[in-house]
Amino acid sequence: MKDYLNKLPKEILDLIYLARDIAAESGMRVYLVGGFVRDLILGVNNLDLDIVAETDGIAFAEKFAHALKAKLIRHRRFGTATVMHRPHLKIDFATARKEFYPAPGHLPVVESGTLKDDHFRRDFTINAMAIDITAGNFGKLMDFYGGTNDLKNKSIRILHDLSFLDDPTRILRAIRFEARYNFHIEPNTLKKMKEAIRIKMLDQVEPQRVRDDLILMLKEKRPLKEIARMKELTGFSFINPKLKVSNRVIGFLKALEKEIVWFEKSQPLRRQIDSWLIYFLGIIDDCSLNVSQEICRKFVFKKGEEKRIIAYKRIGKNFVLRLSKKGLKPSFIFSMLEPISYEVILALKAKHKNSELQKHISDFFEIYNGMKICVSGEDLHGLGLKPGPHYQKIFAAVLNAKLNGAVKNREQELDLIIQKLKEKR
Ligand code: ATP
Repeated sequence: MKDYLNKLPKEILDLIYLARDIAAESGMRVYLVGGFVRDLILGVNNLDLDIVAETDGIAFAEKFAHALKAKLIRHRRFGTATVMHRPHLKIDFATARKEFYPAPGHLPVVESGTLKDDHFRRDFTINAMAIDITAGNFGKLMDFYGGTNDLKNKSIRILHDLSFLDDPTRILRAIRFEARYNFHIEPNTLKKMKEAIRIKMLDQVEPQRVRDDLILMLKEKRPLKEIARMKELTGFSFINPKLKVSNRVIGFLKALEKEIVWFEKSQPLRRQIDSWLIYFLGIIDDCSLNVSQEICRKFVFKKGEEKRIIAYKRIGKNFVLRLSKKGLKPSFIFSMLEPISYEVILALKAKHKNSELQKHISDFFEIYNGMKICVSGEDLHGLGLKPGPHYQKIFAAVLNAKLNGAVKNREQELDLIIQKLKEKR
């Protein structure tokens, strides 16, 4: 494993050496675990270090954060902690633990344990390997359950037959890893998964946990494969009992994906979109406003997420008709689209194939949105206007004129303001 480690970027390797030195000082056994080890073996980039310490992961995390002068974020509910180092490096810490599930789908009762116990509670063998980073053993791969073999055979395998009953969110995780790495869910795992699906185990889990794994799934690079696999295996009744994703909706999801790709390629400077939310709009496309509200309540989406979902559902035929007309003024198009989120606009573009609407939305992103005026508050002050809310009105009028091509530069903007002021007198 040492060879694998040596291929890592220096900034990651330095963090691992730091962990090794702190482990030596504190006399703890410390391991790299989880997805980091899986991806290291696969040769996939992964900047999320996951560290497990035998005896006391939190005490270890405190020492680590102190040495790095970094902030430690504790997750008391789970007995874990995270250090963010620079904006892009995340290091998670936990104590090696044993888990018991008091009831299927509930959160486990946890007590500290050995590394082997810790691996037995994990989802799949490919995620249950560790690299020892304790001095003396540094770089040794710990693989109690055949993870390396399963990686070689591209197999997703649970560690024991009750795994999906203990934690049904693993059903969604299996679909996610299968699609991401182009692996297959091995026959016994698939059988146990289907049994858990048949008895509706996903309905037994706290909805927020299902939501989190669903979002992770929709955040995968191009999640249509995952969605198709959900349609085949789980269906969508775990989102809402009435929800079915028809072939028409699958077609819509493809159109959504096309728009996401278009946006990412053509609008690199705009804010990053929540593409998962756009796919979610696709999945619930057949749901009424009421059912969508029910889903939002059940999954307790964040305010801004719920707002966008409901805004999309509320857009009526009239709005679409108005935006589909020929010869609209740019300022009118801007006034219609500017209050709406990018996610909702892209979903509209995917849904309504009217060529005028398509063009208006493209123009909005490519020309109108982000257009800036040159005049400032100082200019208005210079013209003898006292500051107040009317400044915003004047700026809006100048922007509208600029959008419509009536003014093109600072001089013309100032002329327009002067002319308007004269008209007012
Ligand atoms: P990703 O590459 O998507 O981040 P990951 O494997 O790193 O995948 P995390 O969700 O960060 O996934 O979890 C880290 C590790 O914790 C996993 O590799 C796995 O060992 C374990 N784990 C996560 N969720 C579960 C679960 N529901 N049941 C059992 N073990 C889990």
